[in-house]
Amino acid sequence: GQDVKSDIEIAQASSMVKVKELVSDLRLKEDEWEPYGHYKAKLSLSVMDRLKDEPDGKVILVTAINPTPAGEGKSTVTVGLGQALNKINKKTMIALREPSLGPTMGIKGGAAGGGYSQVVPMEDINLHFTGDIHAITTAHNALAAMLDNHVHRGNELNIDVRRVVWKRVLDMNDRALRQVVVGLGGPLQGVPRESGFDITVASEIMAILCLATSLKDLKERLAKIVVAYTEKDEPVTAKDLKAEGALTLLLKDAMKPNLVQTLENTPALIHGGPFANIAHGCNSVIATKMASKLGDYVVTEAGFGADLGAEKFLDIKTRAGDIDPSLVVIVATIRALKMHGGVPKDNLKEENVEALKKGLANLKKHVETIRSFGLPHVVAINRFIHDTDTEIDTLKSWCEEQGINVELADVWAKGGEGGIALAERVVKEIDEGEKNFTHMYELNTSIEEKVESIAKKVYGAKGVEFSPQARKQMKIYEDNGWGKYPVCMAKTQYSLSDDPKKLGRPEDFVISVRELKPSVGAGFIVALTGNVMTMPGLPKEPAAVKMDVDESGKALGLF
Ligand code: ADP
Repeated sequence: GQDVKSDIEIAQASSMVKVKELVSDLRLKEDEWEPYGHYKAKLSLSVMDRLKDEPDGKVILVTAINPTPAGEGKSTVTVGLGQALNKINKKTMIALREPSLGPTMGIKGGAAGGGYSQVVPMEDINLHFTGDIHAITTAHNALAAMLDNHVHRGNELNIDVRRVVWKRVLDMNDRALRQVVVGLGGPLQGVPRESGFDITVASEIMAILCLATSLKDLKERLAKIVVAYTEKDEPVTAKDLKAEGALTLLLKDAMKPNLVQTLENTPALIHGGPFANIAHGCNSVIATKMASKLGDYVVTEAGFGADLGAEKFLDIKTRAGDIDPSLVVIVATIRALKMHGGVPKDNLKEENVEALKKGLANLKKHVETIRSFGLPHVVAINRFIHDTDTEIDTLKSWCEEQGINVELADVWAKGGEGGIALAERVVKEIDEGEKNFTHMYELNTSIEEKVESIAKKVYGAKGVEFSPQARKQMKIYEDNGWGKYPVCMAKTQYSLSDDPKKLGRPEDFVISVRELKPSVGAGFIVALTGNVMTMPGLPKEPAAVKMDVDESGKALGLF
């Protein structure tokens, strides 16, 4: 029998070392870190200056097959692999995204790994942490307030109030705020107009913070944010409102990566958490870069499956941060492969080798994609209690027949110990595997060509259909000088296609691009294939109803 403790019980029973020990192991200088209590610290950007001539450590990206609604355990494997690499004496750091409070209150399911592969203190990480997301909320809303004030005070920039694209944000799942009318109440309360709220992690400022390489770069990017259009359709920017200085000031501490540890005291930087659909879904460039200066290996993660997260990591984040990735780990689970092979969600606990074999087509496509990026890779089977030996053997022998590197990862149940085989394989492949990293498209091709490259080469689509609106926008964007940015695809994570019901490896499909959205500050053009939810709602029974705190301040029921 397995000892099934909840994630929070495991986390609260762990023995954390004080953060001052972590920083001394990392040989940080006294003025390079600030404690946030005993178990968290912010690291100064000056670390990057001091270590700029040091070689970068090896960057390992953890991605996955197309996920099922529960997630396939990328964070868990990321943490477990980091712990395992340290166990085999490789100096390793982990770089992960910060969880958003909205989903924490809404859907049960940790965002800090799971089982014996978690980052701690998990209560802090999952709640307000070091306030980065609050700072982003404030910066975003300051820009909104300055815009409405500008309109109220005479509107010198001729902002068309029907063409304001900058909404307000809040770090909560709150469907009631999706559409609002602001400025009601008469001439003293501003100019009435329709608007709405997004969740903070969907803010372009979150994406900007995650791609910026310095405070200077942060300010330049913030200045370029398009907030509205004039009646003549000319873009109005944050710079036009003279907002970029104040916004940078509000974000100066949020730009510093947060240092915490895993259950096995492996150092982890948790910093930034943009949406993986309308943004790129990776932790900050600065955290990944800093981790690669402080460790010989960095294990980091990108949201959703390899068709979305890994593609954006490899085409957007590596360009923004000048990151040279060494290897990709593709997480697969028996249960998700069975789902791709046609098994309904409620029957996943039963052995089904035939369905598993059918579902392998999904894994195969993602392996091909990583191969076409020219990167060494290892498939990690994230072991679940219900997986049978026959199923695991089937998956392993299929990989071996196809010449795909594969290892079992039992890191949820066993922590780093359960990931040693994976860690050894990863090190071996980094040393011996063939690497010839190339992006999926060149930046100086048209927006249309970039979308087509991704759709055909990464999703396996026949082609792309652009709506008349999308075509018009492509033309305007190229005229505005935004044509050379990378493309950030907003597509369902459940399927390689844009139809969430087409599991496995769909063929003969076309990707429909409905609309585009410029994130000029972040430096990418979002291509929307369907409706993207930027303000989620709470489920029927929110996770919040199970949460509590005892008299001593100990968190209860947080997963
Ligand atoms: P992802 O990063 O892919 O979204 P996570 O690592 O956050 O996935 O895991 C999602 C949930 O699944 C977490 O609650 C985690 O504890 C749980 N989980 C992950 N791996 C396993 C496993 N091998 N067995 C049981 N539960 C797991």
